[in-house]
Amino acid sequence: MHPRWNQIPPSPPVSTSGDVERSCSAKMQLFKVSIIFVLSAGTSVAIGKEVPSQWLETPTHWRNLAKEAILSKERQGPLEAVAKNGIFFIGDGMGLTSVSAARVFKGQRDDGARFGEESSLHMETFPYSGLSKTYCLDTQVADSSCSATAYLCGIKARFATAGLTPGVLFADCRGQNNTDLHVSSIVEWAQREGKSTGVVTSGRVTAIPGAANWAGIARRSWETDADVAEWGMNPEVCPDTGIQLLRKEAGQRLNVLLGGGRHRLTPVEKIDQETNSPGKRTDGRNIAEEWLVMKEGQTGTARYITGRDELMGLNVLEVDHLLGSFAMSELPWSDELERNNDPTMTEMVAVAIKILNKNPNGFFLFVHGSKIDSAHHSNRPGRALREIVEFDKAVKTGDEMTDDQDTLIVVSADHSHTMGYSGYNVRGNPILRHSIIPADDGFVFSTLNYANGPGPAWTNPDTGLRHNVLLDNTTNPNYELPVPVPLFSEAHSSEDVPIFAKGPYAHYFAGVQEQSSIPHLIAYALCVGDGLKNRHCIPSDETTTENLDPTTTPSSAPAHGLVYYLVLLTIFTIFHGRG
Ligand SMILES: [Zn+2]
Repeated sequence: MHPRWNQIPPSPPVSTSGDVERSCSAKMQLFKVSIIFVLSAGTSVAIGKEVPSQWLETPTHWRNLAKEAILSKERQGPLEAVAKNGIFFIGDGMGLTSVSAARVFKGQRDDGARFGEESSLHMETFPYSGLSKTYCLDTQVADSSCSATAYLCGIKARFATAGLTPGVLFADCRGQNNTDLHVSSIVEWAQREGKSTGVVTSGRVTAIPGAANWAGIARRSWETDADVAEWGMNPEVCPDTGIQLLRKEAGQRLNVLLGGGRHRLTPVEKIDQETNSPGKRTDGRNIAEEWLVMKEGQTGTARYITGRDELMGLNVLEVDHLLGSFAMSELPWSDELERNNDPTMTEMVAVAIKILNKNPNGFFLFVHGSKIDSAHHSNRPGRALREIVEFDKAVKTGDEMTDDQDTLIVVSADHSHTMGYSGYNVRGNPILRHSIIPADDGFVFSTLNYANGPGPAWTNPDTGLRHNVLLDNTTNPNYELPVPVPLFSEAHSSEDVPIFAKGPYAHYFAGVQEQSSIPHLIAYALCVGDGLKNRHCIPSDETTTENLDPTTTPSSAPAHGLVYYLVLLTIFTIFHGRG
């Protein structure tokens, strides 16, 4: 459990409703902190003396860890073989700082770690890691749309467009309508090789990035005809992502699609039974019902579900196509799912894999953790870290349900956020708390912080003093950090994001990659797409029934050998006879 010493300074008094109460004792705590700071001469070394020696690891511990790391690398070796399956996890907005902070959060909350910093997320146990450069073709900082074109379709494209070449400008309906300017995705490449495919998201099923697997869209928010019309465009000319799910081949062939966004699938005339609210479409079309009709024309059984109970009750052996839309918009926060009869990301991933894994040709699954991004945009680090831990559980499940020898798993992010992680706190200081060393203005500061966003103002306009986080309930998941720059929504940032990989050709993801290279690297391992092929791929023009028939290939070799032997024997006999 957590050592008690890390409670210095003690929590300020907080009301049961989570509201902050200013009090004399809080002022006294700030005074005590200042005293500690003065006595310790402001150095982290002095503060570190507060940690009892017996709780700290010995030098031998670190040397043994290093030995284990080396021996593990010696045992591992790169695996070069055909990846039958691929799972690609994207944590939306899950930058490097987010991963580091979530690791500590998980260690302190879930793992029973002494401190927390020494814990690991499951994704961090993958043998190979690299970095992804996330900038868009025309912007320094990516949105989740241009980045989706990069990591799903393999090219860098314009900001806020998806599945289209740079020839299409933002909100350019005419450009979107030109199919020469559309690009295909890793999902489509996998489908062409006979693999089953799926998309799982905690966002809306019609939203980018998931929809970039089948749709080309000039404005990322065009998820219904009403969205297109709102921009003065003709939805007939410029179909939304929902319509493209039914029209585009990659959408038609998608086996599993799970997430939220139900009110963008249904028309305004239809009142949703769960929420008693109307749909968003104004063209009268019901995408979910039309999807079921479309699937009737394909092999296998199709189901459309709207609740977690239906998902968990499915007989996966009897379902080949599954559309699940569990919430009207995005799925709720992970700790609010159960009460809303909504599934966790882990549950969705598990069912998706069970359905897709029935295909002997293998599968490709794209998983999108949307809620991490939502939390960061609202300056709520507690929410963001919780969502990363939930996302990581889904990664672990995907890993446990597949074989490392034939399944490539890649985990990355589309972009980062402005969240920082700083100060010189003692080890094990709760990650959502504040520094024990005051800043130059006498106030402490939170360990995590944002450069901008909708959180409370950095300074009190009446007093001119900085917001005193010592008086805040920072561990409340809905707590919003104060920010120096006001923005209606906290901005993405552009530092590189991590890539974690395991399975066949996972070692190819090491190093610093352009984000647009990622789907090509996945395709290389899976032997799909039109790009380079690894040496274990069977060329598509040789993948005929005749060549794959085990009864023809082996038997022909001895037959050729026999003819060769008889020719040699004849020549030998002739020459030997003459001698
Ligand atoms: Zn975002």
